[in-house]
Amino acid sequence: METALLKSKQRMLDQLESPSILRLREPRNLFSLPRGRNSKLTPLWPIECEVIEDHIYHTEWVPPEPEPFYQPTGNEFAPEIVGESSGTVVFCIEPAITGTYFIASRVGGSRQPLKSAAVSLKDPEDTVLLFESRFESGNLQKAVRVGEYEYELTLRTDLYTSKHTQWYYFRVQNTRKDVKYRFTIVNLMKAKSLYNMGMKPLMYSQKDAESQGIGWRRVGNDIKYYKYNTEEGQTLYCLTWTVCFPNSYDTCYFAQFYPYTYSDLQNYLLTLVGNPLYSQYCKLRPLCNSLAGNIVYLLTITNPSKGVIAAAAKKAIILSARVHPGETNSSWVMRGFLDFIVSDAPDAHLLRDLFIFKVVPMLNPDGVIVGNYRCSLAGRDLNRNYRTELKESFPCIWYTRAMIKRVLEEREVLLYCDIHGHSRKNNIFMYGCNNKHAQNQLLHERIFPLMMSKNIPDKFCFNSCKFQVQKCKEGTGRVVMWRMGILNSYTMESTFSGSTLGAKSSCHFTFEDLKSLGYHVCDTLLDFCDPDRSKFQQCLLELTELLKQKIQTKLSELGKNMESTWSDISLSDVESSTSGSDSSQSDGPPAHLLKMVEKDCNEKKKKKKKKLLRTRKERNDLHQKLDVSHALKHKEKVLNRGEEEDRETWSHRLRPFPRPTARLLGWDQDARRGENTSNCQKCQAKQLHNNNHQTASCSIL
Ligand SMILES: [Zn+2]
Repeated sequence: METALLKSKQRMLDQLESPSILRLREPRNLFSLPRGRNSKLTPLWPIECEVIEDHIYHTEWVPPEPEPFYQPTGNEFAPEIVGESSGTVVFCIEPAITGTYFIASRVGGSRQPLKSAAVSLKDPEDTVLLFESRFESGNLQKAVRVGEYEYELTLRTDLYTSKHTQWYYFRVQNTRKDVKYRFTIVNLMKAKSLYNMGMKPLMYSQKDAESQGIGWRRVGNDIKYYKYNTEEGQTLYCLTWTVCFPNSYDTCYFAQFYPYTYSDLQNYLLTLVGNPLYSQYCKLRPLCNSLAGNIVYLLTITNPSKGVIAAAAKKAIILSARVHPGETNSSWVMRGFLDFIVSDAPDAHLLRDLFIFKVVPMLNPDGVIVGNYRCSLAGRDLNRNYRTELKESFPCIWYTRAMIKRVLEEREVLLYCDIHGHSRKNNIFMYGCNNKHAQNQLLHERIFPLMMSKNIPDKFCFNSCKFQVQKCKEGTGRVVMWRMGILNSYTMESTFSGSTLGAKSSCHFTFEDLKSLGYHVCDTLLDFCDPDRSKFQQCLLELTELLKQKIQTKLSELGKNMESTWSDISLSDVESSTSGSDSSQSDGPPAHLLKMVEKDCNEKKKKKKKKLLRTRKERNDLHQKLDVSHALKHKEKVLNRGEEEDRETWSHRLRPFPRPTARLLGWDQDARRGENTSNCQKCQAKQLHNNNHQTASCSIL
């Protein structure tokens, strides 16, 4: 019997107890990361991707002065696109063939010898730029030289799709100093862009990094984003800018935003788990493997509790980032959050006492590695597929949802937040889900975002926050988690550009600004769960007043009298939805299954036309194929039903926050903390609590 029980590696018999009892083995530390010298986790690439061996590293540097937006003059030049007919192709990589889908992966991608994608220099005087993008997160498919210092650039669409061009990250070599170069990206697909609102491209000079420690900086002049119709009748958009390189014969990089690769994340996680202090309260586990076999990591961060009851009473906070690979902003916010929450700051200590943090820092490692903007290797936007039952096609989000379900079974989840980047709006803002059906929770979902805006008034814009749940957003993380019973379920967006508010107005965000946002999430969490509910109530009052004003405006627009009640008008009448978000429509099943369904439909059409009698074998084959298509639709239907049931199942968890515990009653509502979190000045009582932590046992939990 004992042997049979012990077959699982999870269980062990505790021989010290009498009689021996069966218990779960202590979780191991990061068993998936190899240890020792030279241990290096190498990303797995699809086998059709060519990858150069160079290891790309960028110095982290913050410009000493704020970087202002570009001020358009109105006379910016919009070059006509001439293409290969009048230009010379100087760089080209093979795109994935249209209609293909992910089959296999390996370290280093393709087995074939690396082809030279760029032209060679004819002589030392040759001024042609040497392009390269076949490195982690790189994206540039083609460069055409259309003048001595002018290039037309084509971005690679997301793998196995024909769209989602936005993210660019490439290298140029053989630069000349003080010469004006012009670059024009010719195949962007969004009509609106922050480049028309002052955003500048980012550039990195290898020589400046080595000699002066300078990192990424905003550059560019004559910046214009404009429409262009191709000869095939397709409407695309171009981004053009001019730039002078700081050095001759330099290696420089351009990017849509500060890059943050899967390797960057792994190196960071290794430093976390390598720290003996952090490892006491920060556990790293593989959540699952992505389609290509890369590990999706899960961090659990909490202080050890004093006993089982205290541990069970802890609420959970769930954070995730980088479901959209091109939104590197989210990784920098996540870095800032992790830096703070594992730190020795008293507030971090308090948060680890109060909560269990479940963190998925990179939801889509494959997309990040190959330089996609939005999709996974299933060729689909994962943030439209959180309801999926297709575990094999969408493992990263399937396992994330399953993990959250497990957490919900054992404790309340106070807040879920999926972190994103936004290409069409400035500032930082959040999307949430309107709890209008729960009268006692009315407007509560807006309190956390409002508190954020009060804590970072020069970056966070509450007016840009939206709370309507649109039908087309039913598959997003925030809506699915909300339907599972998480009242405060959010998407947090941070711009690729900068702020239009207060002291930061008209300046680009640096990656440090985004890291500080990670800290402000922690800071606001403490305000949000403050046992003295004054701040909470004050925010609720403000929100109620704001809504009343909106309703009155709407009523007067409609010509109704002011005495009409709230019930005369619904929230959706006075508020816009998240249609302004960086959204994409659901594209249906993953690329490889879509192929199967398409094939099936084509065959069906063909057969219908010919009206031929089928043999028994043909009929059986056809039924089998139809079953696949039907099963896909059926699974999604069942899941939709399941989500509704889940919502009912978890509705009992939508309970108000408990009354204050004695020790925390004295929080001073007026004292605001400074940025220096190691010196918590929130209030005396909180300090007292923190001091107690360091000196005596804490009775909060
Ligand atoms: Zn996004």
